[in-house]
Amino acid sequence: MLTISDIVLSFGGNKALDGVSFSVAPGETLALIGPNGAGKSTVFNVISRYYRPSTGSVRYGEHDLLQRQAHEIASLGIARTFQNIELFENATVLQNLLVGRHARTPSNWGREFLFAGATRANELIARRKVEEVLDLLDLQHLRNEVVRDLAYGARKNVELARAVCAEPQLLLLDEPASGLNPEEVADMAFWLKDIREELGITILMVEHNMNLVARLATRCIALVSGRVLAQGSVAEVQSNREVQRAYLGTAA
Ligand code: ADP
Ligand code: MG
Repeated sequence: MLTISDIVLSFGGNKALDGVSFSVAPGETLALIGPNGAGKSTVFNVISRYYRPSTGSVRYGEHDLLQRQAHEIASLGIARTFQNIELFENATVLQNLLVGRHARTPSNWGREFLFAGATRANELIARRKVEEVLDLLDLQHLRNEVVRDLAYGARKNVELARAVCAEPQLLLLDEPASGLNPEEVADMAFWLKDIREELGITILMVEHNMNLVARLATRCIALVSGRVLAQGSVAEVQSNREVQRAYLGTAA
């Protein structure tokens, strides 16, 4: 589904990604783990086309993503959440989800004017999808709340919901459990499972919470200092000596 090959990306003299290659198969829940500064978010920013690597390629199905613009990525079927939640703070939950849905709504000012009927039909489809996501992620009771008034855990869930509203085939989640308490992590695990099983969405997630990773991930990749150090089952990667040493090194 997604194949990343030999990506190199530097910020000044700092090589954030130093020859990263891996792929994601349809139906997988792939966890990308690694200590802070390993380059995990940078990988997401390369896939989303925020950063241009100096070498390497990113293929998504038949598409060469490096030939695409950032705004085209969502309509190709890739949605993401951010390590620091990115929502419209002064809008309601419902409004945020309708914006998330926008990538799937064909829009053209002239056509909207001439074919008001078709526009209304699209609007209805969008509303229906948003309702389905509100139900799936237990957000109905918050639908009219303004995002800035919500607790942190609820905002994380709204951000997830907004990404799902784009009807992606591939969902990139940057630390979905960070900052959540154990009860909220358990809820998050359920929602991610539902997203995977009921909607059939493939997930690539960066996550530090190994409890969540062990519960959900079908495969795991450890990124350390901009390189893939190990990949395999969660247990295999967790027990890898070099991976353990890398975590200790950064903790020290
Ligand atoms: P992770 O998500 O694994 O914690 P990041 O991908 O955020 O790590 O960062 C990898 C490295 O790239 C770090 O050394 C970080 O400081 C650097 N980096 C990331 N984004 C930028 C940026 N926009 N400008 C400069 N350096 C950056
Ligand atoms: Mg990060």
